[in-house]
Amino acid sequence: MFASLEGRSVIVTGGSRGIGRGIALAFARTKAKLTIVGRDRAHLEQAVAEMKEAGAVARSAVCDVSNFDQVREMVDEAAGIQGGLHVMCANAGSFPQVKIIDLDPAGWDEMMANNLRSTFLCVKASIPHFAKAGSGRVVVTSSITGPLTGYPGWSHYGASKAGQLGFIKTAAMELARYNTTINAVMPGNILTEGLMELGEEYLSTMAKTIPLKRLGSVEDIGNAALFLSSDEAGYITGQHIVVDGGQVLPESTDAVAAI
Ligand code: NAP
Repeated sequence: MFASLEGRSVIVTGGSRGIGRGIALAFARTKAKLTIVGRDRAHLEQAVAEMKEAGAVARSAVCDVSNFDQVREMVDEAAGIQGGLHVMCANAGSFPQVKIIDLDPAGWDEMMANNLRSTFLCVKASIPHFAKAGSGRVVVTSSITGPLTGYPGWSHYGASKAGQLGFIKTAAMELARYNTTINAVMPGNILTEGLMELGEEYLSTMAKTIPLKRLGSVEDIGNAALFLSSDEAGYITGQHIVVDGGQVLPESTDAVAAI
């Protein structure tokens, strides 16, 4: 039996849709106090209503997670309103596909800012609050793409996601003095609004490569994030967990067909 996370103060970046929404919902069902972060106010309001319905005390914050002033203000405000900060879910990110030959340096920098710099900024802004609370949890949304797999058009995306795993190794050591853990979830192909924008052909091709024969749900990632945020996961830090229905396991597509 896991200890309740009721009343814990949790920030979920990118919580207005997709995987972040699934993570936020998992915490909402435990009656956590949630701040949902994104740039689109209308999407945030919808998500807050959904979280309240699921049992949370929920609020939203409009914030671009690649901007440090905005991130610091967002984190300080959430901690002030929610009685401190216990969990930071650094999830927001984007995955536009551009092949290297067409990718300009500004596009590379934008990807790094949105996915990797943002992870560093969220952790940096949270440290004073974890220090004050005497403990904390960080859950980073990485990916199988980059650390484990490649896909044409995602060199910059994969580099940003692998970079997050590099970051958490040293961050885990530095956060230990605040009794705070940091770990990453590595989703496979999870059915989100962002993934759907890649088109039906991409979705059906991907589903065929997964031994469990389905794309992941946002709840699948939410459950992993919830575990890594629990008191019971308090001795796990600097680690990553693949949540992909076995997608990285087959040696060939024939191997999946033979299941
Ligand atoms: P999504 O459906 O496109 O949702 C992305 C969320 O992040 C939205 O809430 C978006 O809100 C927010 N966001 C993006 N950039 C932001 C910024 N600069 N500042 C604040 N909020 C920002 O994407 P998703 O599929 O859920 O992906 C979420 C995370 O999971 C990403 O880090 C992605 O790399 C990772 N991931 C996804 C999959 C998958 O299969 N879906 C697989 C592996 C990893 P606004 O647009 O309103 O800002």
